[in-house]
Amino acid sequence: MKIIILGPTGSGKGTQAKFISRLLKLEHIEIGAILRKEAKRNKLIKDFIKKGKLIHDDIVIKIIKSKIKSNDFILDGFPRTLKQAKSLKFKPDLVLFLNVDKKNIVKRLLLRKREDDIKENIEERDKIYLKKTIPVVNYYNKLKLLKKVNGNPEIKQVSKNIKKVLEKLI
Ligand code: AMP
Repeated sequence: MKIIILGPTGSGKGTQAKFISRLLKLEHIEIGAILRKEAKRNKLIKDFIKKGKLIHDDIVIKIIKSKIKSNDFILDGFPRTLKQAKSLKFKPDLVLFLNVDKKNIVKRLLLRKREDDIKENIEERDKIYLKKTIPVVNYYNKLKLLKKVNGNPEIKQVSKNIKKVLEKLI
């Protein structure tokens, strides 16, 4: 099974992707973690992440292609642009969209204390999300692959809601 999870930074998609990957025994492919590892030896990637900017599509697409090795996975953090979405050669079984209010996102990000979770780039990431990633949400919605889940409640409740969506699918 191939699942994509979409949502703004701080929506809890990493946590929920881990939950889904354990539940359905899918490989968890987390582009943010892969890029943070790359950043240790690539200054350009490091600077982009620190500023909250998206890494160039061609780079990210190439990385993702090299990571997809099986038929069962959950993609977390990819695609974030239409070009990335259209680069995928498979049809996902499901695209989960975690919808979280902005005030909750800011609260969660500032609690997380990651190096790139600073006030200035939280705003920047939000702007980029609205401009680049919302079109991806609309794209999968038109393809009737999208399921929207309320990501505002506490983690366990969101997992329960996701489980309900998955049970209908399998
Ligand atoms: P995340 O851990 O998903 O919040 O991603 C951290 C950072 O990695 C983002 O702010 C971007 O700089 C970069 N990044 C993650 N996913 C992508 C993507 N699909 N395309 C481009 N850049 C990305």
